[in-house]
Amino acid sequence: MNELKLRKEELRKNLDEVIWNIEQARISVSEHHIVQLVAVGKYSDEESIKTLYELGQRAFGENQVQQLEKRMKELEELPLQWHMMGNLQSNKINKLIELRPTLFQSLDSLKLAQALNKRLDEKNQKMNCLLQINAANEESKSGVSTEEAFDIYQQIKESCPQLKLKGVMSIGAHVEEQKEIQKSFELTHAIYQKLEKDDATICSMGMSNDYELAIQCGSNLVRIGSKIFK
Ligand SMILES: *Cc1c(COP(=O)(O)O)cnc(C)c1O
Repeated sequence: MNELKLRKEELRKNLDEVIWNIEQARISVSEHHIVQLVAVGKYSDEESIKTLYELGQRAFGENQVQQLEKRMKELEELPLQWHMMGNLQSNKINKLIELRPTLFQSLDSLKLAQALNKRLDEKNQKMNCLLQINAANEESKSGVSTEEAFDIYQQIKESCPQLKLKGVMSIGAHVEEQKEIQKSFELTHAIYQKLEKDDATICSMGMSNDYELAIQCGSNLVRIGSKIFK
């Protein structure tokens, strides 16, 4: 087999394994619990993303606006969903708006929401967003605190009509202790449940090292990079 074919078989194996594990985890919650997989390509290249598309994957994520732009342009002939899930600096707001991502998962403050809303309003555009929650209170991570999340969500809904809030996103606690990671997921999921009456439909939790646990805690969108693209 040539190198490209080998890479395709490798990606197929990784994707199959992840999908199988997602399936086991979601069924342990309920047959009705549907989980979306977003493949995070940040450690990979456009060729691998294209191969994953051929294998059936449609939703992809990036954590840098610049990289997102490059990939959307290079792969524009493919009907892909693009998710942005990284820290958004204010000088990149216009660029992100121009790119029209399927979902901006890392809205991490009221201030950013208002700045984004203002620019969207000028362009008469809307954007689907998730409020990022820093569920383990880690200094290295952005996001609103679990204490403030519910109120800030309401404030954004009231003051930012160009933003369509669809739910919450959280990154699991960066620790070895499973119980700690679980706690951060449970806290986020409890907030999500309170927000379901405000039409929240997406609870985005779980990455390569903790997606099965995240699903068991109620996640319905997992963002997986290294386990697929390794
Ligand atoms: C990189 C990244 C992921 C995927 O990380 P892996 O551990 O490689 O699966 C998920 N979410 C966010 C926000 C990321 O930046």
